[in-house]
Amino acid sequence: MSHTKAYAAYDATSPLRDFELQRRELGPKDVQIEILYCGVCHSDIHQVRNEWGNSIYPMVPGHEIVGRVTGVGSDVTKFKEGDLAGVGCLVDSCRECPKCKEGLEQYCEGGSVGTYNALERDGKTVTYGGYSKQIVTTEDFVLKVSEKLDLQAVAPLLCAGITTYSPLRHWGITKGHKVGVLGLGGLGHMAVKFAVSFGAEVTMLSHSPSKETDARRLGAHRFALTSNEETIKSLANHFDFIIDTVSAPHDYNVYLGMLNTNGVMICVGAPPAPAQIPAFNLIFQRRSIAGSLIGGIPETQEMLDYCAEHNIVSDVEVIAMKDINEAYERMMKGDVKYRFVIDLATL
Ligand code: NAP
Ligand code: ZN
Ligand code: ZN
Repeated sequence: MSHTKAYAAYDATSPLRDFELQRRELGPKDVQIEILYCGVCHSDIHQVRNEWGNSIYPMVPGHEIVGRVTGVGSDVTKFKEGDLAGVGCLVDSCRECPKCKEGLEQYCEGGSVGTYNALERDGKTVTYGGYSKQIVTTEDFVLKVSEKLDLQAVAPLLCAGITTYSPLRHWGITKGHKVGVLGLGGLGHMAVKFAVSFGAEVTMLSHSPSKETDARRLGAHRFALTSNEETIKSLANHFDFIIDTVSAPHDYNVYLGMLNTNGVMICVGAPPAPAQIPAFNLIFQRRSIAGSLIGGIPETQEMLDYCAEHNIVSDVEVIAMKDINEAYERMMKGDVKYRFVIDLATL
């Protein structure tokens, strides 16, 4: 066992603070990674505050992990000491069900294992995430990270990146498609970058007027303020796809109305409260509403390789571990451009 410094939530309301945990002994297929940077996802806030009702405390959040390999088990073939490596939202799955065989571990029928706030497949051991100095995990769930990119800006690709890349690929978004990205935060800014890179015509749909300049800099062709009724009317039946990244409860029907015939609204944002959707809003233009969960391991590697090839990274503000509570408050106000990343050297 190796003793590791970390930061944890002890309950749903207190600030995060120091915590110490034990990482397991290196098994034959395990990789030990010294964590250098970890991104701060809004899912961390939802779970720290028990907004999804599934929280286990103490909780060490963090599933946008990058670092250097410091040790490998005897049967590890993909990694050696000194390599860069990444860990995203999953650290294990059953490996046997049809979903796992297809590389869709996030939809594992036997139950995939989250990087934190989850139980290992033994049903007992709690998983602890990247707000910590090191992690030990099986090489099958460790990603290769290019030396070409700025490492701190790579961290958010492990969740915000794959969560937007995967549905854009699944629905075949490409040149000729009109795509709306709803919400300019961690996921939203990656959705803009990928949709533009795949050739789509991209409109940023935001409730923050101050984000227009950034949306255009990130590559959006248009900016639409969702609080402006005239703007909303002008976008009726406009989009082929909307990718909804909003973390707070909001009215889905406003955006369904912007979808053209056969249009698809892809929900990746996970607000705590359910939404009401009258069937008529789908029936009239044969619209669909869909969801998508992160991405499987092969596709996460594909996304990282795509980013290295096309020089795509996240826009980040690097923070010290002790500033995490303030960072959460700022995220709740939409005051982040566009992902906080913790420098674990400060822990
Ligand atoms: P984030 O950085 O906090 O961004 C959320 C954005 O939503 C904000 O920047 C804001 O954009 C918009 N927003 C926030 N409050 C709003 C409100 N009251 N009304 C309207 N818009 C509001 O969050 P994130 O890390 O990107 O995560 C977004 C959501 O995706 C979270 O719910 C998270 O749990 C979820 N998530 C899902 C998956 C998955 O697998 N499906 C994976 C990761 C995260 P504007 O200012 O531009 O309006
Ligand atoms: Zn996440
Ligand atoms: Zn499985």
